[in-house]
Amino acid sequence: MITVAVIGGGAAGMMAALEAASRGAAVSVYERQNRVGRKLAVTGNGRCNLSNLNASPAAYHGADGSFAEPALRRFSPEETLSYFRSLGLLTVAEPDGRVYPLSDTSGSVVDVLRFAMEALGVRLKDSCEVRSLERYGEGFRLTCQDGSVEADRVIVACGGMAGERFGGTGLGYRLLESLGHHCTPLRWSLVQLRSDNPYCRSLKGIRADAEVSALCRGERLASSAGEVQFTDYGLSGPAIFEISRSALSCPKTVISLDLVRSVSESELAAMLLQRKRSTPQLTLGDVFLGTVQNRIGRVLVSASGLKASESVRSLGEKTARTLATLAKNFEFSVIGDMGAANAQVTAGGILTSEFDPETMESRLVSGLYACGEVLDIDGDCGGYNLQWAWSSGRLAGMSAAEV
Ligand SMILES: Cc1cc2nc3c(=O)[nH]c(=O)nc-3n(C[C@H](O)[C@H](O)[C@H](O)COP(=O)(O)OP(=O)(O)OC[C@H]3O[C@@H](n4cnc5c(N)ncnc54)[C@H](O)[C@@H]3O)c2cc1C
Repeated sequence: MITVAVIGGGAAGMMAALEAASRGAAVSVYERQNRVGRKLAVTGNGRCNLSNLNASPAAYHGADGSFAEPALRRFSPEETLSYFRSLGLLTVAEPDGRVYPLSDTSGSVVDVLRFAMEALGVRLKDSCEVRSLERYGEGFRLTCQDGSVEADRVIVACGGMAGERFGGTGLGYRLLESLGHHCTPLRWSLVQLRSDNPYCRSLKGIRADAEVSALCRGERLASSAGEVQFTDYGLSGPAIFEISRSALSCPKTVISLDLVRSVSESELAAMLLQRKRSTPQLTLGDVFLGTVQNRIGRVLVSASGLKASESVRSLGEKTARTLATLAKNFEFSVIGDMGAANAQVTAGGILTSEFDPETMESRLVSGLYACGEVLDIDGDCGGYNLQWAWSSGRLAGMSAAEV
């Protein structure tokens, strides 16, 4: 019987273990934390956005995003969901393709995986950090803090460095490097952005619907639309996560927010001017009333250099136009990100050119496999990263168990 050691009991590792065990291999999962699936349990704000029905290679990035194609083709979102259904997990898809467990609780996903592994006889070794991995005859020797074990085949599923609090480490890169693999430079994706815009503090705690553009020296790198959260350090929220990868690729990025995306600049200027006739008792501080959140409105007035206490009757056409332009292009210079502790995904990882995308096996060391975030593949926001973990994990498990 082939023995398979899976290093890392996260999404990719658990899927790999299940697949290898279902094909008759004797599988052990080594997990450095005190239980498997700790990061999985906090995904999607505890709801676990486990897949996206639109997952295709275009949603994946890295030196070669198309590396993800064979795994996604062989274990598509539809097949993944029917597999989860076979484990007893019901799911629901939102109109934008994001898939969640029907229970709305990530714990359900961890539970079905854990119980399925137990049922298939997968041996779970938690609180066991693999510190070295070496060739041993035709197979491998793994060393944890409490001794060494041998296995015919090894699947490295250690994840990336993002989400430090939930198990993100660089150990997977080191283990693979020790066997001759190479790692790209690492940065963060799906992360909050820091800004030196002095108005961040006044806006702290507000959520707004906006169209977001990441501009590098005036050139648009990426755009998204949806919820933006203002914080004391800068910007957060799903629409910011979506463009963070591109935003961080340029040293001088400016995030431009269109805070009134449903109306044009001239329509907004006309609405503001109309205040002079319809509600002349207002001050300029209230001129945005009814269009954007009040605190945002006052910040826009102040950022335009106007006095909030002046009467709205003082508003001229030019000033109304200036205010409208600002509301549609409110800019935040990016001075960094919120780092490994807060990022959801690592951009970069072990070179995919050193692995066969049809099997996930190393091209340098036979019998060695890798899957999930440890590789140089990261997906867009919206369930794509977990789908990559499931698809690549399944392919690695399938290949590693092959006789
Ligand atoms: C807060 C947060 C929310 C997220 N929400 C979503 C979401 O809703 N949808 C989505 O698609 N993606 C989401 N992601 C991203 C997603 O969780 C990851 O891309 C995915 O978990 C990667 O799976 P993985 O198995 O490769 O790595 P991980 O899930 O990180 O698992 C790796 C495991 O390996 C273990 N390990 C590492 N090194 C060793 C070692 N040397 N020995 C033993 N064990 C080791 C770690 O402890 C960890 O348990 C989120 C991430 C975070 C941080």
